[in-house]
Amino acid sequence: MKVVIVGGGVVGLTTAYELEAAGCDVTLLEAVRCGSGASHGNAAKIALAESAPVPGPGVLVQGIRWMFRSDSPLSIHPSVAPGYIGFLLRMARHCNKRDFEAGLDVHLRLGADANDLFDDYRRDGIDFEMHARGVLLAFETRGRFDEHAESLPMFESAGHCAQILHDDDVREIEPALSSRIRHGLFFPADRQIEPDSLTHALRHRLVSRGADVREGVEVGGFVRRGGKVAAVVTTDAEVVSADAVVIAAGVRTADLLASLGCTMPIRAGKGYSIDYSPAPIELRTSLTLEDARVAVTPLDQMLRLAGTMEFGSRNAGVDETRVDAIRRSAREAFAGWDDDAASAGEAQPWAGARPMTPDGLPIIGGVRANVFVNSGHSMLGLTLAPGSARLLAALLTGRKVTLPSEILDRVSPKRFTKVRLTRDRTRGRTTMTARTAS
Ligand SMILES: Cc1cc2nc3c(=O)[nH]c(=O)nc-3n(C[C@H](O)[C@H](O)[C@H](O)COP(=O)(O)OP(=O)(O)OC[C@H]3O[C@@H](n4cnc5c(N)ncnc54)[C@H](O)[C@@H]3O)c2cc1C
Repeated sequence: MKVVIVGGGVVGLTTAYELEAAGCDVTLLEAVRCGSGASHGNAAKIALAESAPVPGPGVLVQGIRWMFRSDSPLSIHPSVAPGYIGFLLRMARHCNKRDFEAGLDVHLRLGADANDLFDDYRRDGIDFEMHARGVLLAFETRGRFDEHAESLPMFESAGHCAQILHDDDVREIEPALSSRIRHGLFFPADRQIEPDSLTHALRHRLVSRGADVREGVEVGGFVRRGGKVAAVVTTDAEVVSADAVVIAAGVRTADLLASLGCTMPIRAGKGYSIDYSPAPIELRTSLTLEDARVAVTPLDQMLRLAGTMEFGSRNAGVDETRVDAIRRSAREAFAGWDDDAASAGEAQPWAGARPMTPDGLPIIGGVRANVFVNSGHSMLGLTLAPGSARLLAALLTGRKVTLPSEILDRVSPKRFTKVRLTRDRTRGRTTMTARTAS
């Protein structure tokens, strides 16, 4: 079976890897360079301990409270883009305990094998930078700590057990922290991956196995024949035939699906990262500064800070005020943070667009007879990529799926479509129309 995958981010590449391993003839088309989208500058975490979906109890109220603060970690810009208000309202409806817990369960199950699958990749000769430093969720305030601690039982039942730390015990785990940090949750099993090293190695592996990986090739449309997609068409008018197509184009996934008459609610949630090389401070662990919502990840060649979630941003550029807030949070959290050393080693801040969905869960499965989607991984694309890729490959090739059906339903694209039977009065025929579920 010839499968064309659109998009060479971490999700498209892992999907290509699984499909190639399943015996498919794989072509991957990437508009720019593999790994150059959201996958490039993310916080580099296999964030199992942070797999909560974005919509949660209190998130809406917090978002509104922060709406007019130019340096807040979550921002919602007023926007007139079509569908934008509808998307936010749908997200608001998922900001409740029941949906939050159901969503967390999906992420925990989809990511359950993440560490093992990345180990398998390595055993298969895919050579990338991975660390097993654990993650310390670091809190200044008791309120934020308590909020987090509420979901600990769910993490524990999935096998992710945290050490609970207060006062100086936090500094036993990470001595670099200042006394501002009063509480901590340390998850020793979490890992870190330098994302470029992973996407480069996956691309290399695919090419060495004979897959056709093409960069600088943008898909602009599809050729439909007999209810199926027979080929994808590039913006240079090249026609690439396919038995099946997987759309894994990050934030652009919705546009591509729209051209097939399929509405999927994927919107950009912009975030930033800043790299320091050399690192201005030596750290034992990877961290998240929970009150500022800033991730701090030590890697071989650098220290990376990442954070902010901006909805409705008008451009793809860097907002200096928010990037400054990220820098400030590190300066305040680490006792020995050296500003001069930091600015000497600081790279140009990066902005990337997370593919967000209203319920905070990825979209994995078939949307048309031979068209599949693997996208919408929000803040967890690196973490969930191997599990999602394995699931998508099983669904596409008809192999046995190991996840329970309620999980498949929760990530299925069908949750966003309702088939409506309408009567075409002029011809007396009944037709099916897919529309976005309310
Ligand atoms: C600041 C920040 C921090 C993050 N931290 C983490 C983290 O620590 N852990 C984690 O798990 N996740 C994290 N994420 C989320 C993660 O980075 C994303 O979920 C993930 O990268 C999405 O991968 P993707 O392959 O779906 O999309 P992308 O990486 O964006 O890839 C999509 C690709 O499709 C290509 N494309 C688009 N349209 C077309 C077309 N028409 N034709 C051909 N190609 C096309 C694009 O060029 C792009 O390369 C973070 C994200 C951000 C922004």
